[in-house]
Amino acid sequence: MVELYDNGHGINTPGKCAPDKSLREYKKARDLVMDIVARRRAMGYDARILVPEEKDISLGERCRRVNEICKQYGTSNVLLVSVHCNAAGADGKWKSAGGWCAYTSPGQTKADIIATHLYNAAQTALADYIKDFPIRKSNGDYDSKQQPIRTDYSDGDPDYEARFYILMHTRCPAVLTESMFQDNKADCDFLLSPEGHKAIVDLHVNGVESYIKSLKR
Ligand SMILES: [Zn+2]
Repeated sequence: MVELYDNGHGINTPGKCAPDKSLREYKKARDLVMDIVARRRAMGYDARILVPEEKDISLGERCRRVNEICKQYGTSNVLLVSVHCNAAGADGKWKSAGGWCAYTSPGQTKADIIATHLYNAAQTALADYIKDFPIRKSNGDYDSKQQPIRTDYSDGDPDYEARFYILMHTRCPAVLTESMFQDNKADCDFLLSPEGHKAIVDLHVNGVESYIKSLKR
C-alpha cells in the first residue's frame, strides 16, 4: 500500500489562518503531514508527502500526482489522506465552532471504511481534548451545538460526505480530515500546543494503521 498524505493549501494561499495569524493552515498541514509520514515510514510503510512544495499546488495537479501513482501501483494499493484545519468563517474574527471531523465523497466506498478507522482512533488520540470540551464549552469557547468529534450519521457512518475536488477526482480511496478550527481560539491553542499536535499526528498514524491491519485479516 502506498499511503499519500496531502497537505492543504500553500504559502501563497490568501486567508486560511487564525484571526491573530498565530497559525496558518498551509504550515500546520505541512508540519502534521511531515510528522505523520515520518512516523508511518519508521513503522515500515511506504508513506509519501504528496506536495513537498511550500507554495500552493493546484487541486488538478494534486489529483494528477495521485492518479499517476494509482496507475503505477494499482488503485487498490493506494490511499490518500488530505490534511486540513477547519474554519467557520473568513472574516478574520474568532468563531465559536470547534472539533475534529473527516469527509469522504458521497456513497459508500473504501474511503468510508478508512474514515471510520480514523474516527475510532480519534476517540483515543483526542481523549484529553474530548474530556476538556464540555468545560471549554461552559467557558464560552464553543457554542452549545458544538461537539469535539463532529459526525454525520445520516448515511450510517460517522464521516461527512462532500463533493470536494480532491475526493471526487482521485481514483483511490480518499479521505479529507479537518483537524480543529483555526478560527476558534481554544482549538487554535490546542493545535499550537505540542500535546495537541501530537494527538492529531497519533490520530492519523493509528487510524491508517488500524485500517491497513483490517485488510490483512
Ligand atoms: Zn483547508
